[in-house]
Amino acid sequence: MICVTIACGSHKRMISEMAGLADDGIKFVELRLDFLRKMPDLGRLLPNRPLPVIVTVRRKQDGGLWSYDEERRLALIREAIVSGANCIDIESDVAGKIPRFGKTKRLISYHDFEKVPEDLDAVYEKILAQTDPDIVKIAVTPRSVGELLRLVEFMKKVNVHGRGKPTVVIGMGEIGFPTRVLGGKYGAPWACATFSPQRIVSPGIPYYKTLRDEYRYEKIKSDTEVYGVIADPIAHSLSPLIHNAAFDAAGLNKVYVPFRVPAGEAGELIDHASNLDLRGLSVTIPHKADVIGKLTQLQSAVEEIGACNTIVFRENQIVGYNTDYMASTHCIETAMGGEQNGSSPLAGKQVLVLGAGGAGKAVAYGLLDKGARVTITDRKSEKAEKVAEQLGCSFCDWDARKSYVATLIANCTSVGMFPDVDQTPIGPESIRNNMFVFDAVYNPEQTYLLRLARQKGATPISGLEMFLGQACLQFRIFTGQTASASMIRNLLKEALALSRS
Ligand code: NAP
Repeated sequence: MICVTIACGSHKRMISEMAGLADDGIKFVELRLDFLRKMPDLGRLLPNRPLPVIVTVRRKQDGGLWSYDEERRLALIREAIVSGANCIDIESDVAGKIPRFGKTKRLISYHDFEKVPEDLDAVYEKILAQTDPDIVKIAVTPRSVGELLRLVEFMKKVNVHGRGKPTVVIGMGEIGFPTRVLGGKYGAPWACATFSPQRIVSPGIPYYKTLRDEYRYEKIKSDTEVYGVIADPIAHSLSPLIHNAAFDAAGLNKVYVPFRVPAGEAGELIDHASNLDLRGLSVTIPHKADVIGKLTQLQSAVEEIGACNTIVFRENQIVGYNTDYMASTHCIETAMGGEQNGSSPLAGKQVLVLGAGGAGKAVAYGLLDKGARVTITDRKSEKAEKVAEQLGCSFCDWDARKSYVATLIANCTSVGMFPDVDQTPIGPESIRNNMFVFDAVYNPEQTYLLRLARQKGATPISGLEMFLGQACLQFRIFTGQTASASMIRNLLKEALALSRS
């Protein structure tokens, strides 16, 4: 079940949001009375309510906005009980001051905005022993993969293995986000969500429609298989949106979760994949090279490029792939008319790759694999030289890119990426009408470089097709099935347009 927190300044609005959520099929809400600008009037909020409610009056020290004194706060919670609130939230340290009365359930909450306490078990035992809870809420803040893993074990212990009372376990912040989705798998009584993506009432709390429609929280069960993306930063990853939609369209009992994994911590997550029931991972910045040491089987491309963007956990093996290189060559070949009599249109063609970072290496590798004559360049010459040596291609100085004569220019730098959308890694003077111009940047879809290419009569090839292609390949590796490219393309276009609005 999803419990939506309503946190707004007026009674009128709180009442109308409750009605809107009931109409939208939500079964349970939390009213955050500390957000009301006037002294809360339970006589307006509780009678005729369309949904069961938890009444919460959060103190500032626990992330709330309550600005009156503590005695008034406790009196308001007691009044909520007398008024027949379905449930009241009481912080564990004041629970003794609020006696049980009538049918109102007692949700005893504990917060730590800094960490996952070392003595979490002891904290929990004390709550059970001393506060007379019906339900417990533990909201703490993992700062590392280790703390996230510890919290997941705690979730399992308190709910799956039947210890104590029904318990809502929340990992606040980005690193803790997986707990917000995986509660469904580990028997949480409900997941907390916010009424609007603009109202972040607790660090990392998801928008209820995202939790319901994107993660399909209500369908997550104990046997749901877990997939995810590991990255840092993670906030703008589109992978959960597309993989969850593709799982749903295929009717698969799988969920895809974003893991914010700080640099150097990917190995720890991989080592404990089975604790999370992890079946597959997308891997992105900064982990693509680091994870290779953890693989027990790997595609030769992973070794040669030095980057892995896809992992599956299969029969005690950790298998690594690189779908970036396959996707880039596929979309470039398609734009060039596809294979003719089994031969690639890239064979023998002169190609200039701009940028010797992760994308540059993968794209250059794929082009070389198809028989193209590749020259790579980077604003750091020594970096281009090193990659050229590693892949067996040529390199040139960054300044020489302007006069380089090629059939295809492939931008693999981040120049032109949102928000710097008026930048290009190469000027119009270097683009001719018989050329193909590929841009790995996909946000925006129509980069300045691609617009220049079109103006000069060259054929533009969007990085969105590469992103789409690598995701479809990952989906096939994860599931053995084919995802609908057109559905994913539409989702991506919509999400990218929204991200810039
Ligand atoms: P990366 O490893 O960090 O490499 C970044 C590259 O951009 C480096 O070559 C860097 O040059 C260059 N660069 C950055 N700012 C520059 C500037 N002002 N002038 C010239 N060069 C500059 O990142 P990456 O993973 O390769 O990603 C690069 C781009 O490709 C990003 O926009 C990313 O979103 C995109 N990408 C797209 C896909 C897709 O599926 N379409 C997949 C992967 C990546 P230095 O080496 O000199 O720093």
